[in-house]
Amino acid sequence: MASANNEDKQSSAKRVAVVGAGVSGLAAAYKLKLHGLNVTVFEAEGRAGGKLRSISQDGLIWDEGANTMTESETEVRFLLDNLGLHDKQQFPIAQNKRYIVRNGAPALIPSNPIALIRSNFLSAQSKLLIILEPFLWKKSNMEKVSDSDESVGDFFQRHFGKELFCFSLCKVVDYMIDPFVAGTSAGDPGSLSMRHTFPELWNLEKKFGSIISGAIQSKLFTKKGKNGKLNSSSISKKHQRGSFSFLGGMQTLTDALCKELGRDELKLQSKVLELCYSCNPSENWSVSSAPMHNKQSEKQSFDAVIMTAPLCNVKEMKFTMKGSPFLLNFLPEVSYLPLSVIITTFKKDSVRRPLQGFGVLVPSKEQQNGFKTLGTLFSSMMFPDRAPSDLHLYTTFVGGSRNKELAKASTDELKQIVTSDLRQLLGAEGEPTFVNHFYWSKAFPLHGHNYDAVLGAIEKMEANLPGFFYAGNHRGGLSVGKAISSGCKAADLVISYLEYSSHDKMPNEKPC
Ligand SMILES: Cc1cc2nc3c(=O)[nH]c(=O)nc-3n(C[C@H](O)[C@H](O)[C@H](O)COP(=O)(O)OP(=O)(O)OC[C@H]3O[C@@H](n4cnc5c(N)ncnc54)[C@H](O)[C@@H]3O)c2cc1C
Repeated sequence: MASANNEDKQSSAKRVAVVGAGVSGLAAAYKLKLHGLNVTVFEAEGRAGGKLRSISQDGLIWDEGANTMTESETEVRFLLDNLGLHDKQQFPIAQNKRYIVRNGAPALIPSNPIALIRSNFLSAQSKLLIILEPFLWKKSNMEKVSDSDESVGDFFQRHFGKELFCFSLCKVVDYMIDPFVAGTSAGDPGSLSMRHTFPELWNLEKKFGSIISGAIQSKLFTKKGKNGKLNSSSISKKHQRGSFSFLGGMQTLTDALCKELGRDELKLQSKVLELCYSCNPSENWSVSSAPMHNKQSEKQSFDAVIMTAPLCNVKEMKFTMKGSPFLLNFLPEVSYLPLSVIITTFKKDSVRRPLQGFGVLVPSKEQQNGFKTLGTLFSSMMFPDRAPSDLHLYTTFVGGSRNKELAKASTDELKQIVTSDLRQLLGAEGEPTFVNHFYWSKAFPLHGHNYDAVLGAIEKMEANLPGFFYAGNHRGGLSVGKAISSGCKAADLVISYLEYSSHDKMPNEKPC
């Protein structure tokens, strides 16, 4: 009897289509399913996970997409708790040891502001600039840019002076900001929008003016509540031990999410081609999908849709609104950065100067010393189970906005480039014992100066298409954590939308 009731409930539950089985789509589907809704996830590829892609082969484990993530978003903690994944979390050994190439050799990045001031990582002039920032920063400068979409480079120039300290500033931007943005988004400080790339710092400026004193004040504020007691967010910080992965690699997370979905709930090799909104209570949305390169499409009806496919793919889809074409010509072109990920292993005894720690970033300036890669993760140093004990496994990135053409190079050419950089940095001698190459033609959407227009267009789609919601790394941030958060937020919006619509109280909905 109970199971008949459950079946009734299940069949009368509202149906939601999720397009894309990357981490944002799977997180959204999981949340909807927990809420008792019927979900169907459509994925164009033959595998789920999107940019989370872990390979296990011949005793080696590596990631071809994201390598680590953080737990700063509450939605990430929710997922890890619910999926019971805390036991599988893997924290890198010596994760605070990160290096930057300076004058042709790896230099340890100081792990905190005091260590930075004490170290000889920056010149005395550059340190002085950082200390003086709260005094040099001018409110009038901020007012001038508040409406414009300032680049990352310009933002830091504004805070750390320009003419007076140009030489020192170049060092701060070249050796701290440039490699950091290349390592997190494959972009460069001149073409990335500050507001969209580092929203936390942008907001810190809005609130406090100086980013140095703002960072100190907000840290003090989160550590202590008004009455001086530890507040809940500092307690939850206990869970935030920096970056982490999972046993088996990052795909363990998306595999765990897939396991929560039934066989009919995840449709692989099902590329969504067309979405029609009809305003018919029994079939609001009809979604047509087909296996890649197959013209024979299949239609299914839904009450709402969460779209997580990249916008370049959304542009290829056909939308119909109550029988008429809904043209997406208002969606601006998004630029994407290409990236090659090269995995190499070397016998331990052929690496003369191995480094403990997370990895090394290469600033663009260091191209003058012959470097061509963006950076390398010391994967088996971080996670010793990723390679047999006599091997070092490295993950190296080539391309991004610094070198788009090189990202497309052949495996042989990339192997030479990586081998040469690792020889110079770590004293890796001879040829690697293993090489794997994965090319992402559209690794990251460029959050550039036109990004406000992109976000505006997403909002326009949502405003004009009832029951349609957009999530993923084109909205709210590029990291895995932010993609998860965006997926979960879209699921919450769908849940409220369906609750409203079942009570015939849809706010803002135009009559059919
Ligand atoms: C090389 C690389 C390294 C990275 N490193 C890190 C890192 O270390 N830490 C970090 O936090 N982030 C990292 N990122 C970023 C992060 O991995 C991504 O931003 C995030 O995983 C994106 O998830 P998503 O669900 O938004 O999109 P995606 O993973 O892109 O998923 C979108 C899915 O939609 C599918 N799709 C497209 N069109 C259709 C269609 N018509 N029908 C059905 N399905 C469709 C796609 O096949 C894809 O599976 C990295 C990214 C790359 C590429």
